[in-house]
Amino acid sequence: MSDPEFFDHGELVAVLTTQPLDRLLDYKAPEGGCFPGAFVEVPLGPRKVLGVVWGPGRGDFDRAKIRSVIRVLDVAPMREEMRAFLGRAADYTLTPMPAMLRLATRAPGLGDPPSMRKIYRLGDCAPDRMTDARARVLELLRDFGGLAFTLKELAEMAGVTSSVIKGLVKQGAVREEDSPRDLPFPQLDPDLCGKDLTEDQTAAADTLRAAMRSDSYGTTLLKGVTGSGKTEVYLEAVAEALRLGKQALVLLPEIALTAEFLTRVEARFGARPAEWHSGATMTERRRVWRMVGQGDAQLVVGARSALFLPFRHLGLIIVDEEHDTSYKQEDGVLYNARDMAVLRAAICGSQVILASATPSLESWANAEAGKYDRLELTARFGAAVLPEMKAIDMRAEQMQAGTWISPTLRRAVLDRMEKGEQALLFINRRGYAPVTLCRACGQQIGCDHCDARMVEHRFLKRLMCHQCGETKPVPETCPSCGAEGRLAPVGPGIERLAEEAGAAFPDANIAVLSSDMFGSARALKAKIEEIAEGEADIIIGTQLVAKGHNFPKLTLVGVIDADLGLQGSDLRAAERTFQLMRQVAGRAGRAERPGQALLQTFQPEHPVIRAILSGDEIGFWKAEAAERQVAGVPPYGRMAGIILSGPEVGPVFDLGNAMARNDAPLRQIGAQVFGPAPAPIARIRGRHRVRLLIKAPKGVPLQEAIARWIAPLRLKGDLRLSVDIDPQSFY
Ligand code: ADP
Ligand code: ZN
Repeated sequence: MSDPEFFDHGELVAVLTTQPLDRLLDYKAPEGGCFPGAFVEVPLGPRKVLGVVWGPGRGDFDRAKIRSVIRVLDVAPMREEMRAFLGRAADYTLTPMPAMLRLATRAPGLGDPPSMRKIYRLGDCAPDRMTDARARVLELLRDFGGLAFTLKELAEMAGVTSSVIKGLVKQGAVREEDSPRDLPFPQLDPDLCGKDLTEDQTAAADTLRAAMRSDSYGTTLLKGVTGSGKTEVYLEAVAEALRLGKQALVLLPEIALTAEFLTRVEARFGARPAEWHSGATMTERRRVWRMVGQGDAQLVVGARSALFLPFRHLGLIIVDEEHDTSYKQEDGVLYNARDMAVLRAAICGSQVILASATPSLESWANAEAGKYDRLELTARFGAAVLPEMKAIDMRAEQMQAGTWISPTLRRAVLDRMEKGEQALLFINRRGYAPVTLCRACGQQIGCDHCDARMVEHRFLKRLMCHQCGETKPVPETCPSCGAEGRLAPVGPGIERLAEEAGAAFPDANIAVLSSDMFGSARALKAKIEEIAEGEADIIIGTQLVAKGHNFPKLTLVGVIDADLGLQGSDLRAAERTFQLMRQVAGRAGRAERPGQALLQTFQPEHPVIRAILSGDEIGFWKAEAAERQVAGVPPYGRMAGIILSGPEVGPVFDLGNAMARNDAPLRQIGAQVFGPAPAPIARIRGRHRVRLLIKAPKGVPLQEAIARWIAPLRLKGDLRLSVDIDPQSFY
């Protein structure tokens, strides 16, 4: 029996709510009836909660006791394809449906009726008297180039009271206007001003446009070295989507990247697209959510959760830097946005473009197997050529204790400075020093709540735990033996490297780029723009700089510790190191001047380091694939992680052992359980953590087996269990 098209007043409907219940609830359709997919408010006990009409009610409940839907919200009903997507994504990630619905409704006040409100934008007059607070408001409005804000938002962002803003309004320095709450986004013009593409680029763009016109599902891996014009090419696919009247979604791995990208979109299509990420205001989020749903936002640029927006006719999803690990959500619902993008596209017949200079082994294998199409851009655009890569053999360098810049690297940096070019020193570690050690007793300062060492952050003048975020002042005396003045930093972090660089290059203008050193995405963006314009001789950066920024004057990249990533026991350690080193090196020589990348390493003969230096990507992927095939691990086998946690270690292990003993549902599909074992970080925020690992052959119903395996478990007390399908990290 197929679902009815409409439910009349009083008919039974099944409603999925955002509350953690394990079933749908029956209600009576309200006066005026409702469509399947309607967003509704329903009574639950004494409360009113948000829900979606999922289908006909089951009617296995005393009809007289069934309550009525309170009201239907004034937003477009959830489309059938979206309901199907949430269901499939829930099955795949073993996530309860209410949690999926919460992901899909992450905007405040969805049900509020459209209304007018006061907004504030820059006025024409200068205030009679300038105060710090007033200057902050005006500067903020200027920074956002004509955007308007509500009183509350403006006051919060500028850190002033609302009376400061009201004062500015009186003087005409700020304008107060009435505005409907949620405005459609401006139209984008696909034919405005595309660049003249090179032959390579044209061919790729033609293929992508044709795929768009096919009006069916397909995934294309768009591979091309950094600077080859992948973005230019996929914007042509976006243009085609716009011409066809379809919506497009571009996922980016970092909020810090969005600003640069938005400017590019504006130049290409004449207006700014909708933005969706954690930095957006609540008002803006609700507007995006509603406009996407009614088809009044043609293009959304956002973070992974944008995948759960209620698109009306989604034609294209682009996952830029598809190999990036931040696409895997690591708390709450554990999903990989890259995989979910493919799932969503398959359900609604859209195209996916996965763009990367260094694709993940998963996508590489899917392309090899013919599941994905493949397009490749081999040359950098214009005169730019790929940097020359070389190792600096640290065993042969004369190093002073407590320093990390080798004489060879130092000479290379000085040489670039003389030429008026920029150099980047890369270290993938935040803070000042990873370890603080007592020279008297050998104790390392650890976090009180986690099984992790505290990292010194001189910039913040505190020690910080990178697991739970707890900070404390650097103590004067050793907390263990009480010795005074004997605590010493060990090893380098970005702040310590900056200190060393300051001494080694006293004449240089040094810029430090680490995500934790900027209060806001806006401050970070400003810094990046400054650097791009040449405002620094030396850039010192963490992972953050490896991603997509354009620094035209940058011609030298020095990697301080190329061996760092190789030490982990992680399945993907080699792949990650390869990707990261190639990405970082790709920052050099993006404009006319040729670049060079120097990798400091103690093991220049390591196969991964050799592959990075020789640039033999195919060789590297093949070797890595062969190893994983033999081991039966992803992408040639399936894995799932189970993380158990609780305040006492005993019960956590007991549960893990019981699970390992009762593994029949897994054995039936040929899967194996390993563990329980203490997690590499055995305690976080005071909770003890234990892991089990499941390995299964490809093509077996792994999720279904896990669901049957864990269904009978009753978690006692404060025990928690989470399932991580296709785990990316194993901490
Ligand atoms: P990728 O995404 O592969 O790193 P981009 O698309 O960002 O490469 O291109 C690198 C730089 O070269 C950008 O500044 C881009 O505007 C420029 N560029 C690429 N192709 C062209 C073209 N055909 N005409 C003009 N500029 C181009
Ligand atoms: Zn901690």
